[in-house]
Amino acid sequence: MAVLIKGKDLSAKIVEKIRQEVLNQERKPTLVVIIVGNNPASRIYVSKKKHTAELAGFNSRVIELEESINQEDLEKQIEILNLDTNVNGILVQLPLPKHINAYAIIEKILPQKDVDGLHPVNIGRLAIGLKPYAISCTPYGIIKLLEENNIEIEGKHAVIIGRSNIVGKPLSYLLLNRNATVTVCHSKTKNLPEIASQADILVAAVGIPKFVKADWIKEEAVVIDVGINRMEDGKLLGDVDFEEVEKKAGYITPVPGGVGPMTIAMLLSNTLELFKLQNL
Ligand code: NDP
Repeated sequence: MAVLIKGKDLSAKIVEKIRQEVLNQERKPTLVVIIVGNNPASRIYVSKKKHTAELAGFNSRVIELEESINQEDLEKQIEILNLDTNVNGILVQLPLPKHINAYAIIEKILPQKDVDGLHPVNIGRLAIGLKPYAISCTPYGIIKLLEENNIEIEGKHAVIIGRSNIVGKPLSYLLLNRNATVTVCHSKTKNLPEIASQADILVAAVGIPKFVKADWIKEEAVVIDVGINRMEDGKLLGDVDFEEVEKKAGYITPVPGGVGPMTIAMLLSNTLELFKLQNL
């Protein structure tokens, strides 16, 4: 039976450590989250982020904007936050409405305030092995989970299923920078089960419940499940068939309580780092 990688516990430890660090400081880091429209999942994520930021002793503000906002007005809002020296981190909750060019919005955020680590400067720095101002929260959280559990990365074959800009691609750079051999798979990949079964570290970031099956898994592999799929009964399922895969894997993250809480912990960690950088 696989060892459970408990992101929830590590996340709580990281948040507590951050809270202790901030406790006696006169000025607190400030995180501003922008949410556009009424996407129910986004609303839950944003309220969790705000709640955890407050738990850590940060100032946190949510700016709620109408679904109908246009590109120009949203960009103006970001420019205001860029100029506000009291704001240390800016996060625009994705997805944005279809009429908004999300890349252009992310590019408007000052790289030094881009807590999500998604600005091309931050992604580019990561890709060439330079330290970004902030590292994308979910991939960063995955690396922390591996490190905390003493899971070796160097020389291992890591297979990532999913090539999104927020998970798969930045994670591939982080693993590559740590000397893993990385294979990134996507919807056009042929022989996916065969490739997955070669993985020492298998990461599923697909968005399809129970997509990864037990017979795709190499004995004792480390399986990281990024997926968050809400079922009709309200239950959350990952992208991995947990019950079957845990019998074969060496390590596995649960959903919920695995990668999800780490994403929020790393968001706070990034906010604190940016706060320090801006107050040197
Ligand atoms: P995207 O939809 O942006 O990307 C999904 C990726 O999966 C794409 O690269 C797509 O390929 C690939 N894919 C889709 N179908 C298949 C298939 N049949 N075979 C192989 N690959 C396939 O998703 P995200 O990266 O944003 O999110 C992935 C999952 O992770 C979701 O469940 C999301 O909710 C969750 N998530 C969880 C977070 C957390 O904090 N735990 C944070 C972010 C996301 P192609 O590129 O060819 O379309």
